[in-house]
Amino acid sequence: MIIAIDGPAGSGKSTIAKELAKKLGILYVDSGAMFRAITYSLIHNSIELSNAAVLEHLRTISVTLEIQNGSQETFLNGKNVSVEIRTKEVTSLVSLVSTLPSVREWILVQQRIVAENNDLIMDGRDIGTVVFPNATYKFFLTASLEERAKRRTLEMNQKGVDVEKVTIQQEIEKRDALDSSRSLAPLQKATDAIEIDTTLLTIEEVSSIIFTTVNKG
Ligand code: C5P
Repeated sequence: MIIAIDGPAGSGKSTIAKELAKKLGILYVDSGAMFRAITYSLIHNSIELSNAAVLEHLRTISVTLEIQNGSQETFLNGKNVSVEIRTKEVTSLVSLVSTLPSVREWILVQQRIVAENNDLIMDGRDIGTVVFPNATYKFFLTASLEERAKRRTLEMNQKGVDVEKVTIQQEIEKRDALDSSRSLAPLQKATDAIEIDTTLLTIEEVSSIIFTTVNKG
């Protein structure tokens, strides 16, 4: 079984997907973490953002996701980079890196390998459209920009990061625009995905809608 959850930044994808994976006893894969790990590696190694230079760099790295104590950790060449991939620097560059064909192809291969041996829930931007067009279930989560910025700010403040909502809102808006307008695998609802506007819903309510749909089979 493959469950695809797509949607813009802050729409609740990862929170819902994590919870659902636990409930269903299947694997959760945060595909955004893979794009972020590559972006971190490119920044860290001062790689020029051309498709050719990035392709060459990709031949030298490995990105793996592992569940440790119930949370997903991201490893770059065996080193845990889960904190590093969430920095402002990575966040502001990741959407540009995600437009590169070399990056998308490299990640696509990894995404499909994981699904060969596991039932899973994967969240991202193109899971239901490009990565797994034949996914068993597809959901597309949305929420107003204001609400998404509010959630992200709260999440960061709770982690001890002092950031203003207005800054987060601008960052999300910019990232959404780039993710939706790129020619390769843009952020888009699959025609057969179930769309859920989460603006006025709690995490439990959204989880319950998805869980009920999946259980009905
Ligand atoms: O999910 P998250 O916000 O961490 O994703 C970071 C970025 O990775 C997105 O803004 C997007 O540019 C890229 N991404 C993508 N396709 C996916 C998942 C993430 O292009 N399936």
